[in-house]
Amino acid sequence: MSIVELDGVSKIYHVGDTPLYALNNMSFSVDEGEFSAIMGASGSGKTTTMNMIGLLDKPSHGVCRFLQEDVMTLTPDELAYYRNQYIGFVFQSFLLLPKLTVLQNVSLPLMYRQVSAKEAEQRSRNILDQVGMSEHMQHHPYELSGGQQQRVAIARALVGRPKLILADEPTGALDSMTGQVVMDLLRKMHREQNVTILVITHDRSVAQYCDRIIQVRDGRVVDDKENVRQTAGA
Ligand code: ADP
Ligand code: MG
Repeated sequence: MSIVELDGVSKIYHVGDTPLYALNNMSFSVDEGEFSAIMGASGSGKTTTMNMIGLLDKPSHGVCRFLQEDVMTLTPDELAYYRNQYIGFVFQSFLLLPKLTVLQNVSLPLMYRQVSAKEAEQRSRNILDQVGMSEHMQHHPYELSGGQQQRVAIARALVGRPKLILADEPTGALDSMTGQVVMDLLRKMHREQNVTILVITHDRSVAQYCDRIIQVRDGRVVDDKENVRQTAGA
């Protein structure tokens, strides 16, 4: 079943009197269970695509469906509900809250739901264990390395059991060794957590971790194929 479908989607910005096509007739769909990359150079439309899929933006033309629902037909409340319930976001700059501990950062998404404090803590401890951060639960983000912060951010994205993780340049702020560790962790979470993962990146070596690479340029798909992964270290 498809989780996301873009069908002839364009996004037009008006800069002065010239229309700028951030997305220009973009079409692809992602099925539940995929671990895929959207890859393209800077300015190719990746962030615009992610905002569309993440229900933060709507098409100027074309149809964007999330879980088979046309996003144009969803109310702002429904969009917020879908985002909260079904999508976990991971960003280049981690975006952890500095005054909260690791455990509190991860619990936070559950606080916006009808989850009891006790269950929230239980689930947060459990997912922090899965990402290898159980020894740092009482630490604050500034006490952690970049790679550790991204582990926490991945735990925070997963704690609500979303259907989809959107990871925008998840390794962009990390050195390449740490970036590999984070991509390995995303693969492990994909295997173990029954979640669809879309990685958005400009970096081919990051996209290589994924099973499918959707390549975009000038706001459209220019290549879309299965990625036969090299073995580790190759
Ligand atoms: P990427 O994330 O791949 O770098 P973006 O999706 O951010 O690309 O941008 C695609 C194109 O749309 C770029 O040419 C960018 O300058 C333009 N763009 C993005 N957002 C806006 C905006 N709010 N107003 C005007 N132009 C924009
Ligand atoms: Mg971008």
